[in-house]
Amino acid sequence: MKNPPKLSCAKCHQSKLVTDFHEILISGELHPWCHDCLQKQLQKNLEISQRLKLAPKRPCTQCGITFSIHSFHWIKSTKTRHSYCRACHAVYMAMRYARVKGEK
Ligand SMILES: [Zn+2]
Ligand SMILES: [Zn+2]
Repeated sequence: MKNPPKLSCAKCHQSKLVTDFHEILISGELHPWCHDCLQKQLQKNLEISQRLKLAPKRPCTQCGITFSIHSFHWIKSTKTRHSYCRACHAVYMAMRYARVKGEK
């Protein structure tokens, strides 16, 4: 009897039967990750997206766009989030730095 073909999973590096790999319908190729790893990753993605969905949102006081609070810098000293989003904060810091340098 011929040995069934085996594949090494790109994620857990275990040698598994090709039937343990998910076939990608569009290309007809096998996913480089085995079912177990794929399942775990999907579960993780789901948890992350749920967490992000649950995260409260707030508008940036600079650009007015509403972001999830993860887009705001956490200020350790005051235990609050910065009122500028990360992008605006970066611009603000760059401007402040330029001003400080200019004063010298
Ligand atoms: Zn695997
Ligand atoms: Zn902003």
